[in-house]
Amino acid sequence: MSVTVSVVVPLYNEEEVIHESYRRLKEVMDGTGEGYELIFVNDGSRDQTWAMACALAEADPRLRLIGFSRNFGHQTAITAGMDEAAGDAVVVIDADLQDPPEVIPRMIEKWREGYQVVYGLRTKRKGESFFKKATAKLFYRTLNALTDVTLPVDAGDFRLIDRAVCDTLKKLPERNRYVRGLVSWVGFQQTAVEYVRAERFAGVTKYPLRKMLRLAGDALTSFSYKPLKLSILIGSLVSIASFVYAIVIICQRLFTDILISGWATLACLTLFFNGIILIMMGIIGQYVGRIYDETKGRPLYIVAQRVNFEDP
Ligand code: UDP
Ligand code: MG
Repeated sequence: MSVTVSVVVPLYNEEEVIHESYRRLKEVMDGTGEGYELIFVNDGSRDQTWAMACALAEADPRLRLIGFSRNFGHQTAITAGMDEAAGDAVVVIDADLQDPPEVIPRMIEKWREGYQVVYGLRTKRKGESFFKKATAKLFYRTLNALTDVTLPVDAGDFRLIDRAVCDTLKKLPERNRYVRGLVSWVGFQQTAVEYVRAERFAGVTKYPLRKMLRLAGDALTSFSYKPLKLSILIGSLVSIASFVYAIVIICQRLFTDILISGWATLACLTLFFNGIILIMMGIIGQYVGRIYDETKGRPLYIVAQRVNFEDP
């Protein structure tokens, strides 16, 4: 069985969507006429996802499964799928059908034209909360302002990458990965296909605020030093301001009768600047923590089960 296109699907507690997702993906991929494989990566689901995936895989040798030993996160699941993919092109797509599989043939077309990265650009996002859309918008724009690589705005992880790009990504050993950033960073010929992001087919988002913040932190620290430079800027401004203030006080003492007083002012200033110092320490901590993750050298993920990977 020759594999031209590998489709990587991360799954975390997706028992409500896995069947429909598999059906739609299979339908679309059969329609392309390409040799393909589906790689479902079970990211430590606590529900029936794994059992259901196994049942599907038993009937379909083109469906390959990777089961993590626990929940390692969406970005890691994608990475594992890419590591195992055999195709000349690798497509990453969410399980919840928010990214319509029907876009994949258009991606393959672009790839055949010679592009090595084809990313999906969301022109519209249906059925997502105002909060999610607003924070996403803010996040992508802030990230671009703070980083040197241009990361396409409003593109998620739904994309097709060529074998050459996949092999390059596999050589990047970093933990706390922000995959879409890494794909931009490696370069190659990139283009976009536009699509409308649909509503989640069923179930709820597996990206609570905590995971979103974590992803944002990874993205920022992976691609920008600018937050670290913030303390230099703030420190400089404060120094200048305090110098000016000192001159004002000296002048008051020498040339006027005004009494220099005010412990309330002092208390406010102390609290304010202690706050800033702690925030800056926190920012440095974000980077230090990630350096620590790198030095431990633990594997990115642990695979507990693999299904259908032995070649028949
Ligand atoms: N996902 C995962 N591990 C996680 C969280 C999510 O593998 O810890 C998968 C999830 O099953 C889905 C994809 O990542 O296929 C995107 O998640 P979701 O649709 O919940 O995120 P949203 O679209 O709401 O941002
Ligand atoms: Mg989703």
